[in-house]
Amino acid sequence: MKTEILKYALNYFRNKSLLYKIFLTYAVSLLLIGIFGYSYYIFNNIRTIEREIDIYQKNLINDKKTYVQNIVNTALKGIEQFYENYKDGSIDEETAKSVSAKFINSIRYFNKFNSNNSVGYIWINTIDGVMVVDPPKPELNNVNVIDFKDKNGVYLFKEMINIVTIAGEGYVSYCWPKLESNSKDCFEKISYVKYFPQWKWIVGSGFYLDEVDQEIVKYHSRVRDDILTTMFKSLMFGIVATTLAGMIFFFIVYYITSHLKRISQLSIKLLEGEINPKLKLPYSSNDEIGQLISNFNIFIDQSYKLLTFKKTIENDIDIDSVYARIISLITDEFQIDKFNFYEVNNSKNSIKLIDSRGDFYCNQDIFVDANLCRAARVANIIDSSDVKNICTSFSCNQENSCSIYICIPIIIGSNVRNVLQIIYDKSSYDTQNIQRLSKFLSESAPVIESKRLLAQLKESTLRDPLTNLYNRRFLDESADILSSTILRRGSYAGVLMCDIDFFKKVNDIYGHNIGDKVLMDVAHILKKSVRSSDMVVRFGGEEFLILMQDIEPDKVMVIAEKIRVNVESFEINLTGHTLKKTISVGVSIFPSDSKSFWQCIKFSDVALYKAKETGRNRVVRFEESMWQEEEF
Ligand code: GH3
Ligand code: MG
Ligand code: MG
Repeated sequence: MKTEILKYALNYFRNKSLLYKIFLTYAVSLLLIGIFGYSYYIFNNIRTIEREIDIYQKNLINDKKTYVQNIVNTALKGIEQFYENYKDGSIDEETAKSVSAKFINSIRYFNKFNSNNSVGYIWINTIDGVMVVDPPKPELNNVNVIDFKDKNGVYLFKEMINIVTIAGEGYVSYCWPKLESNSKDCFEKISYVKYFPQWKWIVGSGFYLDEVDQEIVKYHSRVRDDILTTMFKSLMFGIVATTLAGMIFFFIVYYITSHLKRISQLSIKLLEGEINPKLKLPYSSNDEIGQLISNFNIFIDQSYKLLTFKKTIENDIDIDSVYARIISLITDEFQIDKFNFYEVNNSKNSIKLIDSRGDFYCNQDIFVDANLCRAARVANIIDSSDVKNICTSFSCNQENSCSIYICIPIIIGSNVRNVLQIIYDKSSYDTQNIQRLSKFLSESAPVIESKRLLAQLKESTLRDPLTNLYNRRFLDESADILSSTILRRGSYAGVLMCDIDFFKKVNDIYGHNIGDKVLMDVAHILKKSVRSSDMVVRFGGEEFLILMQDIEPDKVMVIAEKIRVNVESFEINLTGHTLKKTISVGVSIFPSDSKSFWQCIKFSDVALYKAKETGRNRVVRFEESMWQEEEF
């Protein structure tokens, strides 16, 4: 049951907001502090009041004692005066005594502490216990009261006699009726008595303890009222103060939680992939929340840059444009001025330098053996700040200027496609920047790969698989660009249509495989016989079209003849023996023969036909007459 309640409570709080939890904790803490603190405060006050009342009571009794003592002393001065009169002979002793008794009997006083006007008086009795003056009980005058005892059994007169005999004066406690009270009830009383030895009189006066009690009750209620007012005021002050503090606390917590709420909403948006600089949160404080928001804003900025970069390169037309974009990212965004960017050819195990800034330190052998590049081989970041001379292919003699190099591979699957080598001066080394750049590079990896595959695919559809020469489709696609470029430059192109003589015989005698080999060898000779900027296209089965760009018209025939001779003189190696083949070549010149490129191709084909017709293994220049002949 207990665990059930605990589970329920935990579940209840788990689903509540942070503001609710913090504020509830605040309220409960305040309540507990209030209850315990206030109880302690009240308890302490009660103890203080008790102590104060105790002291007040003692002081009050002492004051009353002193007061009655003064009254008795004053009365005695009066008696002494009458005694003096008797002594100096102005009155006799009896008269002096009787006047004194009257004087004492007439004295009434109000006790200054006695608010209910209890009347004080003075009495006289002799040392032998005979009452001389007793204002409340005049019937006792001249009566010997020595054996008188109060209701508590106290022989009060004997005690008085004892005290004055020993000390001449002193206090006595006993029970006695009140002057103003008609009843015979006695009240607890403390009296001061002093001896007047000349007449052996004991003069006394006292006060009743119930008067003290009444005073105490009044004092108590006064103090209680004071304390209650103070407690009420402090309670009110406490409520106002905690409410104010609660409001301030509420606003602070609300302020914090509202920011946390915004951060959590932001993180959801980021999770959903919505990255936009507009999402950045405004916050200027440098506290923990400010730092959190600032980190978020940096994250948004970085992610947005990364996203924009990726989108941009995805829409770039080919891999070279992507490379150019990466290079400007390295130089502009990351401000790196010493680097080498490589492309790794996995099938050929070779490396190509795409771009280089600053000095070049790698051993050139890496170009022909990609395994010599450590980053390409291990597919991991190579950092010379971790291990000096980590890559043996990196040779640097200038200790200070290039002691740190970092090679970051761009990896697809388990293959390294590119390597970016950055060379740092020690001072400008920045790990965070490297990590950020690595992120950009790894984001561009799939884009590079897709562009590469696309280029490869396109290349494969434009090339003839047997000879690896461009095919007719390539010619169809590039003819317009080629011809317009030549026309714009005002240069010339030689159009050579080549056909192997009696090729059918090769197939017939040696079979198709040998036929294929002959085709490959002839294609190789043709390719080698022209400049790399010239194009060799497999136009048909054993027909090849050669486009010689930017050539002087009078050189065309010379080169065509050279090509023919190259083929004629080439010995094709067959198993056990060699074979020689010849070609016939028809030649036209673009745009001399026709402004239409395709027309020129047709003209060279016409010239080829002429070459075949006139005996083969020869080069024939197209002439207009041939075309007319054809037409007719
Ligand atoms: P000519 O001197 O008149 O050109 O005679 P030719 O035998 O070379 O001409 P023809 O056009 O009659 O024969 C061309 C032959 O080339 C026909 C075809 O079987 C063969 N051929 C075309 N393409 C290929 C190929 O890819 N491989 C092989 N082995 N033979 C091919
Ligand atoms: Mg032929
Ligand atoms: Mg042919």
